[in-house]
Formats: sequence, C-alpha cells, structure tokens
Amino acid sequence: MPRYDFRCRACGATFELRRPMAQANDPAVCPQGHQDTVKLLSTVAVTGAASAGGAPQQAPSAGGGGGCCGGGCCG
Ligand SMILES: [Zn+2]
Repeated sequence: MPRYDFRCRACGATFELRRPMAQANDPAVCPQGHQDTVKLLSTVAVTGAASAGGAPQQAPSAGGGGGCCGGGCCG
C-alpha cells in the first residue's frame, strides 16, 4: 500500500499515511486533529523510473571496417 505525505497547514506538521491509491486524494486529518492539510508529492518507489545510468546500449553504426581514421593513419 503506498504511502502519502501530508502537511498540516494549521500546525505545520508533516505526516504520512498509508492508504489505498483509490483514496489518495481523500482529505487527511493531521495527527493533531487539524483538517487543513495538503498532500505532498513524495517520491514513492515507482517502478520503471530508470533515470541514472540506464542508457541503452547502442550498437556502433560505423559503416566499414575501421581503425581510428578509416585506414589513413594506422594502417
Ligand atoms: Zn496540524
């Protein structure tokens, strides 16, 4: 069950709740009893977010047989 972070605008406390995604946008009540809360965008562990180091391997698309200069300097 995902967690959602909330912040109370009445007392400034932040708290998190575990609730089903269907209730993600339901109003949350501060542990202190305040109802003036806002939902924060938290970094929930989401699958498929390959952000760092996930560069796909590209095959080198060199046309011919190679060397550093195509045969001019290293042959
Ligand atoms: Zn509060």
